[in-house]
Amino acid sequence: MDLEYGERYEDFRQEVRAFLEKNKPGEDSIEASGTRREWLADWLGLQIEHGYWARTIPKEYGGYGAQPDLLETVIMDEEFNRAAVNRGMSSQGPSMLVPTLLEHGTEEQKKRWIAPTMRSEIMWCQGYSEPGSGSDLASLQTSAREDGDDFLISGQKIWTSTADKSEMIFILVRTEPDAAKHAGISYILLPMDTPGIEVQPLRTMSGDLGDNSFNQVFFTDVRVPQANVVGKRGEGWRIANTTLKHERNSLNANSEGTILKLIRLMERETSNGVSAMANPVFRDRLMKLQARSMAMKFHAMRMLTCSLKDESPGVAGLITKLRNCQLNFDISSLAIDVMGELGALYDHTEYERDRGYWQSHSFFSLGLIIGGGTAQIQKNIISERGLGLPREPKPAKG
Ligand SMILES: Cc1cc2nc3c(=O)[nH]c(=O)nc-3n(C[C@H](O)[C@H](O)[C@H](O)COP(=O)(O)OP(=O)(O)OC[C@H]3O[C@@H](n4cnc5c(N)ncnc54)[C@H](O)[C@@H]3O)c2cc1C
Repeated sequence: MDLEYGERYEDFRQEVRAFLEKNKPGEDSIEASGTRREWLADWLGLQIEHGYWARTIPKEYGGYGAQPDLLETVIMDEEFNRAAVNRGMSSQGPSMLVPTLLEHGTEEQKKRWIAPTMRSEIMWCQGYSEPGSGSDLASLQTSAREDGDDFLISGQKIWTSTADKSEMIFILVRTEPDAAKHAGISYILLPMDTPGIEVQPLRTMSGDLGDNSFNQVFFTDVRVPQANVVGKRGEGWRIANTTLKHERNSLNANSEGTILKLIRLMERETSNGVSAMANPVFRDRLMKLQARSMAMKFHAMRMLTCSLKDESPGVAGLITKLRNCQLNFDISSLAIDVMGELGALYDHTEYERDRGYWQSHSFFSLGLIIGGGTAQIQKNIISERGLGLPREPKPAKG
């Protein structure tokens, strides 16, 4: 494996570094801009202008218009991580809907939705799961009845992250009730302020830690033009799988930065005057996590090499979400243990460490083991599609 990127890419790295040194947002930059959304719009606009956000999205859809170059993408991620600069937005619009529209949207849909989504002028939520349809998503029941040029949508979605804050939703509905399970589904875009939509927040164990809110959303005869279908009517399952592929890729948070943060915590925390770093049990756990983090880093490089050579990574591509999400949760679990009884504080107090980051990270990364397809489902996929093991028996009908 060649770990050198070459001179051209190292020059590009210096460009990104110089941009970040000059433009890295300060601690009080959000307050200075007014609201978070206003700050985000400015910050994302600046990144697009320099090609560090929406880099490969064509100019006519509001992007920077560069040719796709995987190594440039990797270098940008590395440099933003190294400088601890948040891109600003990793929500479902840019990470899931936009790649789906680029692949399957009409020209009009691309022109209308991509630019404002990338600039955070529109926030999206994902309406897939229903009370009876999570892992078995294709059994979803929310219906869309034809009414002239429109559909009338009725049903219920659940676990809809940020539905209370979003202007738009991409939703899976059943348009062909008589078709086979996977065949009768359509993928539709619709505004959240359409009459007939009711959003009810769901309180979770993470309370007000973090900004991700959970909701259930009820639809009663919600009118939406048939032109809002992405791809062909009844082909929503194929479109939804594009979105899910991008969702799984976006859940592969790099753990190196979190490990460094953990090391700093372990150096600071003491018990009976002894630092956590000097505690052999904690050190042992840290080293195992570091080894797993390095393994995932080299795993990512192996995948990158496959992509550059246009080869399929095979089963290696299927394990990434499973292993990374579990690793991130295990890192925060060690941090919580290192903090002792302070690790069990879930309210903002003077005893809180790292502004409550670890408690929030722990709950959030636990959620990601479930969201976007649970670990058990991912293991089924690995065994059946990756290792060629027999498919699991289907439940008896009726
Ligand atoms: C943080 C987070 C954010 C989310 N955001 C969204 C969102 O924005 N929009 C949205 O639509 N959904 C969202 N979800 C929902 C998520 O997609 C579902 O929770 C997930 O698909 C699992 O479905 P379920 O909760 O109905 O569990 P179920 O499918 O009922 O599963 C329950 C348990 O049974 C196991 N199980 C089920 N079937 C099998 C099988 N065949 N073999 C082995 N084990 C099995 C599962 O692994 C799980 O442990 C989110 C979930 C989380 C945790």
